[in-house]
Formats: sequence, structure tokens, C-alpha cells
Amino acid sequence: MKKLIVFDLDGTLAESKSPLDAEMAGILHDLLGIVKVAVISGGDWPQFEKQLLFNLPHDECLANLSLLPTCGTKFFEYKSDWKKLYSEDFTADEKAKIICSLKKAVAEAGFKAEKVWGEAIEDRGSQITFSALGQQAPLKEKEKWDPDYAKRKQIKAILDPLIPGFSVRMGGATSIDVTKPGIDKAYGIRKLRALLGIPLKEMIFIGDALFPGGNDYPAEEAGVVSIPVRGPNETKPVTKAIIACLESNS
Ligand SMILES: [Mg+2]
Repeated sequence: MKKLIVFDLDGTLAESKSPLDAEMAGILHDLLGIVKVAVISGGDWPQFEKQLLFNLPHDECLANLSLLPTCGTKFFEYKSDWKKLYSEDFTADEKAKIICSLKKAVAEAGFKAEKVWGEAIEDRGSQITFSALGQQAPLKEKEKWDPDYAKRKQIKAILDPLIPGFSVRMGGATSIDVTKPGIDKAYGIRKLRALLGIPLKEMIFIGDALFPGGNDYPAEEAGVVSIPVRGPNETKPVTKAIIACLESNS
């Protein structure tokens, strides 16, 4: 009997960078009424608020929901309001070293942008994210900047030896993420096992990037039964089927 249903957020529960639609909110609310649910994303807490919580009915069912921003380096639970259980942040020294090295690598590679929209470097506590054109850059500009990853590969090649104790990954259209090594969705899954006391074989994972190299793939590799979806419109019937099965068992 499955005891925990785990979802990716972006591209799985909601369209990219958009909030949950009303139908998905209703289905998720039904699911929360009968089983524990968790959401793991590489994004930070504000993205959870905007994409997930904003449209979800605010009631006691939320006690069944665990939220794991930045792949589980942060963990939020609901106790009449959202409470952060922990956040595995970098130390001030680590942050300073990463930020200084990022700036150096970008300058040395020759890709410092002339025009940026908002801050280029974002401190997410347990993750430092570099967005080459700034966080508020228009999508059109972002898509043009590095479609083949050539610029970021050069920056990464300079950056890697400057910060050997950290993991440097390319994501989104213009960004580079720096975390501690081994932070991926498998990390979040193991956090859920430890904190909720639910074995991997009693979990189901649902995500839109469950292919080798995709950011959901580590969850499957960790040993959780995983269901690939191509977007929220496939997540809906899958979730309804899970609800039907769990209800018939209860
Ligand atoms: Mg996704």
C-alpha cells in the first residue's frame, strides 16, 4: 500500500513558471484528504508559494503536505501555518567564495552581459544561482543568449577548479546553479524517508523529467516507483487513478 505520493512542481503540477490551475488544485485537495503528499522542486520557497500554495484550498488537509524547495535542502511542514523544519544553508564564507568565483569565471570567459534585468546572482540559502541576463530578463532575450549551452560550458570549465568542493550545474535558459555535491531529487526522497519514516517502496514519484539526464531521474534511480508525465494534463488522470485505487483499498 502506497503511503506517500511525491510530485515534481514545474511542468508536472503546474505549467512552467505558472500557478496550479483550478482543476489540479481540486484533484490535489482530494488526494491530500486520503494520503500524504510531497512536492520536491529545484526552485526556492517563493516559487512554491506562487505556483502551488496560492491556488490550493487553505484547510486542515495541508497537514498531509510536505514541501521540499531546492531539492530538499529546505523542508516545510504545515502546523496551522507553513513552518520551516530546517534549511541547510551555506556559511557566509562559502557564499562569499562561490559569489566571488562566479564573478571571476564570468569575466574571464568574457560573457559579462552589458545589460541585465535585475540581479544576476541570487542567494537561495542552500543554492547560489547565476542568471546571466538577470532574474527579470525577458524570455525572448534569455532564449537567444546560450541556446546550445556553449557559453555556460566555458564558464563552468573555469568555475569548477575554483570551487572544487561544490557542484556546478547548468539549468534554465541562462543559469548556473551552485550547490553542495549530491543535491538532487534523490536527496529530497531520502529526506522524506528519514523525516516521515516512510520506506521508498511505499512511495510513488510523478514528474515530467524522468529520463536519463532529466532533473526527476534521480528519484527513480533512488528506487521509487516513478510515473513519467508530459505535463499537468497527464498528471491529472494519473492522480485521479491513484485516488481511485487508494479509496478502493480503504
Ligand atoms: Mg519539472
